[in-house]
Amino acid sequence: MLKKEGHSHTKFSHHGSQEPLDAYIDRALELGFDDYVVTEHAPLPDRFYADFQGPAEMLTTSAMTKDELNQYRAEVDRVKNKYAGKIHIKAGLEVDYLPGYDREIHDFLKENADWLEEVVLSVHFMANDQGVVGPIDYDEQTLADYFPTEMKQPQRLFARYFDTVAASLAVTDGLAFPIRVGHLTLIRKYQHYFDLPGFDDSVKQQVQAILTDMQARGLAVDFNAAGYSKPYNGQSYPTFDIVAQAVQQGLPLVYGSDAHRVSELGLHYDEMADFLASLS
Ligand SMILES: [Zn+2]
Ligand SMILES: [Zn+2]
Repeated sequence: MLKKEGHSHTKFSHHGSQEPLDAYIDRALELGFDDYVVTEHAPLPDRFYADFQGPAEMLTTSAMTKDELNQYRAEVDRVKNKYAGKIHIKAGLEVDYLPGYDREIHDFLKENADWLEEVVLSVHFMANDQGVVGPIDYDEQTLADYFPTEMKQPQRLFARYFDTVAASLAVTDGLAFPIRVGHLTLIRKYQHYFDLPGFDDSVKQQVQAILTDMQARGLAVDFNAAGYSKPYNGQSYPTFDIVAQAVQQGLPLVYGSDAHRVSELGLHYDEMADFLASLS
């Protein structure tokens, strides 16, 4: 079986390390990866920078700028050439879904369809019950600040998150490159900090409906290792129960370390691959 790293970042994240992309690829080679997808955070829609109600720093540390996109592409092309024949490197992006910016996001994907080989589509922002859009994974205090009423009723927080994920799927319409839905249970990132409960039946039904819709749309699952290393999470995204459902549903899953530094590449690959193998 091919060993694939499907979700990785670079210095263009602005919140990772400054290590050169070459160091990531060298590490991936050391770990025996055959495929490597570079999926840096895409620029956010212009209108979102203008509309966002919060410190600008929350956005500048969440995405590359529009001006950096060409630099990023050149950098990925450079390593593709340098490592040709050794490892199969693909040019990708992690693209944010933002509620209310569906058109811009779809257009962005379409405009870049000529060079994008794979995309991770992720929800990092959602609207609260006042309609204010805020980040769900910036830090625990920010989550509590933007979603005060939802935090009192965690099932509402979960429902709001999965509503947003469900709405995100349609931005992929008519695009031919492979798209994976990013870290499907990211809303649980601070689960131990807030002592979040498991999903209730209604939320579980939402998850099932999302998996069904993903299958109908030909989307795949980002089987993401980042949660293991987060102090308040300690699991994969999505969690193993949902992974089992996704497999049952016939959805492809692709491992992603979501590395923002070289040392995070390939983490937990073996236990995640073993779990997948145990399902077949
Ligand atoms: Zn992400
Ligand atoms: Zn990521």
